Amino acid sequence: MAQKRVLKMKKGPRIILKVFITLLVIFFALLFCFLYIKHKITSAGYSEKAAIRIMKEFKIEYAVSNPGNKTLNRAFESSSYKEKNLDKYKQVKFFNHANLIDNINTLLEKGYTTRDISIILAHGSNSDVTEFAKKDKIKYLEEFFSYDFAKLKYYDRYVKYMDSEGDDEETTIIMVNLDLDKEDYKDPYDVSNDHSLTVLANKHHSLGKNYIPKNLVTVKSEYTVDKDDSTKGRKEAVDAAMEMMQAAKKEGLNLLINSGYRSYDDQQEVYDKYFKLYGEDYVKKYVVNPGFSEHQTGLAFDFASGNSKIFKESKEYDWMIKNSYKYGFCYRYLKKKENITGIKTEAWHFRYVGKDVSKVMDEEELSLEEYYAIYVDK
Ligand SMILES: [Zn+2]
Repeated sequence: MAQKRVLKMKKGPRIILKVFITLLVIFFALLFCFLYIKHKITSAGYSEKAAIRIMKEFKIEYAVSNPGNKTLNRAFESSSYKEKNLDKYKQVKFFNHANLIDNINTLLEKGYTTRDISIILAHGSNSDVTEFAKKDKIKYLEEFFSYDFAKLKYYDRYVKYMDSEGDDEETTIIMVNLDLDKEDYKDPYDVSNDHSLTVLANKHHSLGKNYIPKNLVTVKSEYTVDKDDSTKGRKEAVDAAMEMMQAAKKEGLNLLINSGYRSYDDQQEVYDKYFKLYGEDYVKKYVVNPGFSEHQTGLAFDFASGNSKIFKESKEYDWMIKNSYKYGFCYRYLKKKENITGIKTEAWHFRYVGKDVSKVMDEEELSLEEYYAIYVDK
């Protein structure tokens, strides 16, 4: 008997144990519930961080019934989350901007619709949108930003340009994107690292002093006007030019190259020579400043005819107009595009851009500047 009593617990500790076990069961039940709900939320495409917020705000059903909504996810993650904007967040297209939710809140306050906001976000970086959100609500959102190459940060310049020039929206956007609302050579865009076939060098896009194309090769002397080895170009461009000149030859033509790659110093020499001969007004009009000449890319050639002194009046010129695009070249300085290229028309100057690009330029009748603004520089 005495031994049995030793094994039996006293009444007090027994209650404590019962309470402890009950609490443990409740704890695990709650933990299970918590994990189950969290799993349900994260399975609907929300992050762990967003899931905690969703539970705290009692928006579980709301979140789960809007699965995979990235903007909503970001809103729940953000300290700028506002409950009154909940239905709006989910309608805004997601962009991975650091201040996304702050910017949406501000733009909503300014009176923009969620559709407007999606358009705004699509046309600028995080900082562009943050700056834009500080402005009063703008007038011509759809007019400009239905073009996907329109830039949010240029809005004021678009309006100013359109007011002064009276061009349509598309032209206005292209002109401003190309800095054509600025003076020539004034704070140009630096393209010194662009070695693509669509590199744009003009009075607003500077190659700089150190731009030297890779893979410079010599044009075969028989295809040059000077019949020597002094004419160079980028390999891709020279190969294509050779193919083109040989094709022209098969048709009885005599297409030659007069000038190819010119270094910064070469262009400086040309500039100085004409400056001395004809003065400042002349060079301003007809000679491009060193660092801004397309010849420095190694992708441009001045062609000539072996049969006629004036290229524009030659059969070779007619053939080039019809066929050069098939070989990846474009007629660079057209009369009707002078206001865009900033260069007086030059019948002899062609630029290699590659066949895919030259085809589009030909079909859509675009200058390289326009092609660049629409397809390259978005
Ligand atoms: Zn030229």
